[in-house]
Amino acid sequence: MDLTLKAYIQGVSDGTLDPQKVADFYVNKAKQENSKYNAFVRFHDEYVQKNIQTFKDRPLKWAPIGLKDLILTQDYISSCGSKMLENYVSPYSATCFQNLEKSWWLMIGKCNMDEFAMGSSNETSYFGPVINPYGTGRVSGGSSGGSAAAVAADCCIAALWTDTSGSVRQPASLCGIVGMKPTYWMVSRYGVQSMCSSLDQVGVLTKTVEDAELLLRAIAGFDPRDSQSDPSADEFIESVEGRLQSAECKKFKIAMPKEILWKWLDPRIKELFLKRVEELRAQWYDIHEISLPVLSYAIPLYYSLMPAELSTNLARFDGIKFGLQDESLDHDDIASYYQKIRSEWFGDEAKRRILLGAFVLSSANYEWYYLRAQKIRDQLIQDVDKIFEKYDLIIGPTTPSVAWKMGERSADPIQMYMEDFYTAPANICWCPAMTVPMGTIHEQGDDLPAGMHFMAQRWNEDKLFAFGKVVEGLF
Ligand code: GLN
Repeated sequence: MDLTLKAYIQGVSDGTLDPQKVADFYVNKAKQENSKYNAFVRFHDEYVQKNIQTFKDRPLKWAPIGLKDLILTQDYISSCGSKMLENYVSPYSATCFQNLEKSWWLMIGKCNMDEFAMGSSNETSYFGPVINPYGTGRVSGGSSGGSAAAVAADCCIAALWTDTSGSVRQPASLCGIVGMKPTYWMVSRYGVQSMCSSLDQVGVLTKTVEDAELLLRAIAGFDPRDSQSDPSADEFIESVEGRLQSAECKKFKIAMPKEILWKWLDPRIKELFLKRVEELRAQWYDIHEISLPVLSYAIPLYYSLMPAELSTNLARFDGIKFGLQDESLDHDDIASYYQKIRSEWFGDEAKRRILLGAFVLSSANYEWYYLRAQKIRDQLIQDVDKIFEKYDLIIGPTTPSVAWKMGERSADPIQMYMEDFYTAPANICWCPAMTVPMGTIHEQGDDLPAGMHFMAQRWNEDKLFAFGKVVEGLF
């Protein structure tokens, strides 16, 4: 069926599409294909049936979407890809999900993800790895690999997910679709499991840039229940539609930091990216090489800050406040109870990062790691702000590599961490960013997608939408 949101809405409005048939098609397809991709961890037939009745007379009824397994949905399980929350039924729904329901999108299931959103390959999920629809035995990217694979394989029309340093954009790039992370204060995180609260944001994953705009407008908005939510988000929804046309992108000044062509970048992606840059220049897009030296600190900075915040956020999962309880354990000895619960129910990557976070925040190391990381963050923000005084966008590839074979990097977490090199700066600086497919690279019989990444100043999503349509139209 391969419907976009735009085509679905159009088809339902002019009567050429029957929403019931579309919903049945996607629910059945998602279930059938799940043995191939493992993109969904749960299907919500009961929710679908109940809401098909409720949504019956609404104009935009039942656009079938997937939801990352860390977005809370009242009365349904949200397990964050973890054994720790395997049976956790949430008493309330996330604001972004409530906003979706108001717009009459239909959640058909919860998508697989790396445990507590930690990973770049979707191999750390308690529910098993997700397989990339573009390559046999290849990873989908992470942490939102399930949502990316589901959209890429046309098992749903679009998906909602979160992005702390690239979890929307990196799997979107590896699966050949559009991924977008908005400005930090744009979408409420209320009811979304926190990973690293100063970086987390809800993002959208779609087949086209136009759909990304539609979906973002459905979920964005001020929410007093998220202390970081900003009333400007309401203004954005009112004013963004049609604010910038793609034709105006020829007036943009686009910056390309020379540091992006760094040693971990796959030479084939480098070649493809530079070719695309030349093609854009040939069409009179104004792309300048600049220097942003602090970029090379983005990964060490992220992997110092993130575990600190993450270990604090995951402290609540102790088998008493949250998380699976084990009644057979001796409750008088609270320390050994916590130890047993947390070592058994968390996976290896979660434990590695909790330990790293405790280390970074310890009194002996706090100044050397955590405070220095905060200072470098300030520096990166200042330097990026300076670039945005002169330029409209900063571009680069989205990922240093194309989808690799499963298991290939499991023994080398550092190589896995390098995947966030191009995407993490947008989270660190609270800026919006987007990836759009720029072509494929042939490897061992597979045509593997690669994305072009661009980032704009805070609250400048309209520039991403406009330029995204240009890139989408050219390549
Ligand atoms: N690759 C990132 C990590 O492992 C993904 C984090 C995210 O955006 N949720 O931390």
